[in-house]
Amino acid sequence: MYNTIVIGAGAAGLMCAIEAGKRGRKVLVLEHAEKIGKKILISGGGRCNFTNLDVKPENYISNNPHFCKSALARYTPQDFISLVEKHGIKYHEKKLGQLFCDSSAKEIVQMLQKECEDAGVGIKVNCTVDKIERINVSQSSETAFRVTSNLGVFTSESLVVATGGISIPQMGATDFGYKVAKQHKIKLIKAYPGLVPFVLKDNPFAQISGVSLEVKVSCNNISFIENILFTHRGLSGPVILQISSYWNKNDDLKIDLLPEKNILSILIENRTNKVELVNFLSQFFPKRFSEIWCETFFYSKPVNQLNEKEIQIISKRLHNLIITPFGTEGFGKAEVTKGGVDTNELSSKTMESKKVPGLYFIGEVVDVTGWLGGYNFQWAWASGFAAGQYA
Ligand SMILES: Cc1cc2nc3c(=O)[nH]c(=O)nc-3n(C[C@H](O)[C@H](O)[C@H](O)COP(=O)(O)OP(=O)(O)OC[C@H]3O[C@@H](n4cnc5c(N)ncnc54)[C@H](O)[C@@H]3O)c2cc1C
Repeated sequence: MYNTIVIGAGAAGLMCAIEAGKRGRKVLVLEHAEKIGKKILISGGGRCNFTNLDVKPENYISNNPHFCKSALARYTPQDFISLVEKHGIKYHEKKLGQLFCDSSAKEIVQMLQKECEDAGVGIKVNCTVDKIERINVSQSSETAFRVTSNLGVFTSESLVVATGGISIPQMGATDFGYKVAKQHKIKLIKAYPGLVPFVLKDNPFAQISGVSLEVKVSCNNISFIENILFTHRGLSGPVILQISSYWNKNDDLKIDLLPEKNILSILIENRTNKVELVNFLSQFFPKRFSEIWCETFFYSKPVNQLNEKEIQIISKRLHNLIITPFGTEGFGKAEVTKGGVDTNELSSKTMESKKVPGLYFIGEVVDVTGWLGGYNFQWAWASGFAAGQYA
């Protein structure tokens, strides 16, 4: 009999297990993959963007935007940084408050493993859970959880579901958490791919695949300024991943290709310039991009031959380019899953189910999705920490 069983040895599950172990709870973590923290290992290009210096509730998407506030306030980026520093892990800020390991994401996994050992947490890998049942504890009115797996049957007072979202199934992601929720009649918010590249129909940018620019992209009243990457299938890069989490099928993207400039006044100032538009634009963009833009959106001619109406059209198509993505690259390429266990079903203080005492949901399985830039790990640490104080 364990006090706490955690299913899933990812960021959230390991943090919860450490905290529960520190409280003297007898904790067991069950992981179906062959090793722990597989997503941590591949994160941030192998260097793990483990948190962000500037974490605010507004950096998260959820049906209930207030839900994440309590956990984020009780476990801050500084708390995780202190843990990283305690283990002597060197890190740096890459940009926009994003903290990465100097060396390797492996160090974060090793740190969590060491913390688990110190807190007396047991971990079983290659463990596939088949069934979860609530059972009555003999001669008392209390209930417990019985977890049946390929490695045996385990029972516990508290059960923490930390099985993540359904993005990147090839990394071991499953819908197990959603199934446990359904089994206990806990509502789910429909899952969508988040932080995901777009696919364009008749992709006009296919020929410039690999080109990257800093642009501003807007959709549904939210904007981001960062790099766009033109791909063979459509659009990617940080600015696209960010906006994808706010995009719904058939929504338009508004792209400002020159967010720091006013091309209307620049062209007016250059009215006497005899240079071809395609060459003129090459002072702002890579040559290949100017060529494709002119082929697709406005035929090139000498700047001094552009009339006022044409200048306005050019300005509109550079500052306000409307693109309607055909779709996204789906869960196979999405960094996160939007949606999941409905936060109205959980206590924001403890992450415990309101319907099923002793059952907790943490991390990405919950309907809280962060921006790109370390926000998703911070949610995993914070929600894991919150549950770890009670589970
Ligand atoms: C390529 C990529 C790069 C990323 N980079 C970053 C980054 O740099 N910074 C950032 O903040 N976020 C990043 N993310 C997002 C981040 O990895 C996740 O939000 C975070 O890992 C969620 O933590 P979690 O513990 O909730 O879930 P996970 O880390 O997904 O952990 C869930 C665990 O549960 C296990 N599991 C699943 N089903 C079962 C089952 N049935 N039985 C037993 N075990 C099960 C899984 O194998 C996994 O180990 C990235 C994601 C991807 C895909």
